[in-house]
Amino acid sequence: MPYDFDALIVGAGFSGLYQLHSLRDQLGMKVRVLEAGAGVGGTWYWNRYPGARCDSESHSYNYFFSKDLIKNWEWSERYPGQAEVLRYLNYVADTLSLRDDIQLNTRVVGAAFDDELCGWRVTTQDGQELTSQFLISAVGCLSSANIPSIPGLDDFRGQYYHTGTWPHEGVNFAGKRVGQIGTGSTGIQCVPVIAAEADHLTLFQRTANFSIPAHNGPMDPDLREDVKKNPDFYKELVRSTTNGHPFRIAPRKVSDVDEQEQTEIYEKAWAKGGLRFRAAFEDLLSNQEANDTAADFIKAKIKEIVKDPETAKKLADIDHPFATKRPPIDTHYFESFNRDNVSLVDVRARPITHIDETGIATTDGHHEVDIIVFATGFDAMTGSLLRMNITGSHGLSLAEAWSEGPKTYLGLQVAGFPNMFTLTGPGSPSVLCNMPVAIEQHVEWVTQCISFMKDNDLGRIEPEAHQCEEWAKEVNKAADATLLPKAKHSWYLGANVPGKPRMFMPYAGGFAHYASICDQIAQENYKGFSFSRRP
Ligand code: NAP
Repeated sequence: MPYDFDALIVGAGFSGLYQLHSLRDQLGMKVRVLEAGAGVGGTWYWNRYPGARCDSESHSYNYFFSKDLIKNWEWSERYPGQAEVLRYLNYVADTLSLRDDIQLNTRVVGAAFDDELCGWRVTTQDGQELTSQFLISAVGCLSSANIPSIPGLDDFRGQYYHTGTWPHEGVNFAGKRVGQIGTGSTGIQCVPVIAAEADHLTLFQRTANFSIPAHNGPMDPDLREDVKKNPDFYKELVRSTTNGHPFRIAPRKVSDVDEQEQTEIYEKAWAKGGLRFRAAFEDLLSNQEANDTAADFIKAKIKEIVKDPETAKKLADIDHPFATKRPPIDTHYFESFNRDNVSLVDVRARPITHIDETGIATTDGHHEVDIIVFATGFDAMTGSLLRMNITGSHGLSLAEAWSEGPKTYLGLQVAGFPNMFTLTGPGSPSVLCNMPVAIEQHVEWVTQCISFMKDNDLGRIEPEAHQCEEWAKEVNKAADATLLPKAKHSWYLGANVPGKPRMFMPYAGGFAHYASICDQIAQENYKGFSFSRRP
């Protein structure tokens, strides 16, 4: 074999672990996973911030490819906490004996396609160079932490942390004044937990956000048993829905029912909680008037929960339609503002000017804090790929290829980058889907594709350039059929990172529909991809 490995996989989270198992144990390939962290788990290894928990319901947030894995695992709560998901992924790594093929503490800093070798030369931070026929990125969509460049941060004498690279030993907030920046899914989870520990929490809000109560609690034992007894039913269910979740969107429009019934439906959905709220009506994400009814309902709830009218007004002053930014779910987020030790600063009205030795300054004052928590999100979907300094055929850099935004074929491959697969890459449903469901579909597609290549003695695959152009149009078209692009500042569009090209990145046409497109292309002998023989 002219290569050190048949395939190198970057990342040992949900996607990397399953891809390793599939290529090694189904296709008998020599595979190595390179992982920057000191353990497996990916997102769940890094994101240990207070309150970190998954928004997908536990019984759908696991692999479905193995009945044994399902049978021998017990989720304890309706939504799994960070520590439990991390335990789950370690359980998978042990059960499938994956560890020997995972190289931890190894950050990939370069990957170059060598046309003569017909493979990849991958460089690690500690100077290793490894070659492989295939390079598979399993780096996750939300892995490149984004700390905004606020002047003066280096002068700050306290501690600061980004939620996505949280210290393993935890942070002691007792007796501390904490400033938190960010009100996305992460920030909304942190607030109640930090508020309960800290002396004082000041939340710096730039964009007010919708949130639905999670109503977390112990896992329903009947449901747990039912999943173990009928794993195929649940697998089929999550794979047949728009967002890969274990529930269907109600087949009714808001206008099908009168106002009183709308309210009753929203009340029921609010009481049930979680991402299911979005499924109350089928047109919430496609019709502005329909969306307004959900938005008004939630804003009224915020005003009902939050006692101080000024604070409630700021929290409910939301500038985008419901669910056009990833909708958070929470455990007592809005209730936290009724505590004496929590205050809200509206930095849209009075922006942060700088940070100094003792705290955060806005245009109307200075807020002394001991600890700053950046819940400021990620350079999503492309950041971690670009950080690897990837160059494709004839030295084309991925940064150049994506200078106007990420163009891919199906979110799986990029023209000019042969034998590279991007699991849950831009242009695939990825973050609009329950992640393990999107991941399984991608891993299985890639495995079948590589198996097809082996069977047909093919050594090189890449998409035809025009297919990437066409798919980019498809991705735009799918987004434009929804209200999603109306959230102008969302990370779906790359708008949260200064200088990042604006392009709607995930595929919004629905998971089940997307999967059927991928299947069809595979059945047509991978139409749109070009192959050549082994060198
Ligand atoms: P995010 O959604 O990008 O939110 C970042 C927050 O930081 C926003 O409120 C943003 O304000 C604010 N921000 C950024 N720069 C700022 C600045 N310079 N000044 C003031 N505010 C600033 O990031 P995230 O909350 O980490 O969530 C990212 C994604 O991760 C989620 O959408 C979700 O897909 C995933 N996630 C999932 C879970 C879960 O399943 N439980 C939990 C956490 C995260 P603007 O809105 O004004 O930009």
